[in-house]
Amino acid sequence: MTIYHQGTVRAARKLPISKAELEARVQLAACYRIFNHLGWTEMIFNHITLRVAGPERFFLINPFGLHYSEITASSLVLIDIEGNPVRESKWPVNRAGFVIHSTLHGSIPDVNCVMHTHTTTGMAVACLKEGLSPTNFYAAQLYGGIAYHDFEGITVEDAERERLVASIGDKRAVILRNHGLLAWGPSVAEAYMTLWTLQRACDVQIAASSAGTLNPIRSEVFAQTVRESGPGEKRTCEDVFTAMQRIVDAKDRSYRD
Ligand SMILES: [Zn+2]
Repeated sequence: MTIYHQGTVRAARKLPISKAELEARVQLAACYRIFNHLGWTEMIFNHITLRVAGPERFFLINPFGLHYSEITASSLVLIDIEGNPVRESKWPVNRAGFVIHSTLHGSIPDVNCVMHTHTTTGMAVACLKEGLSPTNFYAAQLYGGIAYHDFEGITVEDAERERLVASIGDKRAVILRNHGLLAWGPSVAEAYMTLWTLQRACDVQIAASSAGTLNPIRSEVFAQTVRESGPGEKRTCEDVFTAMQRIVDAKDRSYRD
């Protein structure tokens, strides 16, 4: 695992913190705390990344070493598309872990936020040959919108980045086979809504298939369901996210520091 420790930061420089970066920091830190609230954590692993609005292609990522419950706005690390920290940081960055994210940030249009999880039910569905079963309310909303990418090992090499982009095509999220879930969006709220829908679909699938035989949904219903749910209306996504943010605010506002 390639990690840049303090003191090995390349191109670190004094860079003023813009209003956009400040806002992005608080929003992303809130998102980490929301993931923690939902139990979507894997010790210090996994990432949620967010591009900071502005002319430069800079991103915020979790400091490698902190649990999501410990992440604060100021501890998030600003990095470039290669995963190099842009400023001095007390914490290292898991550059290897950023490779999947940077592939999406760099190659898929309109991707400002990328989220990756190793939830048990998400991984379980990723381990199933048939993948996501379109047999529940949430899976039906994602019908035809989920990509699959084969597992090629932990570290994503350059050649695999191209294959990942090809696997994704024009889908809304990707199930990394034998591995986990990956979703993205133009904003944190929109990426969150996609991942949440996929996560719920996996939860229900694993619960239902453990209990009995899955009841199929008539195929003619899918198009209408996808149309009615839309790819997540922006306003709804924002309302959902801010409601979740109020929950983490009520628990512990320290993430805003
Ligand atoms: Zn992973």
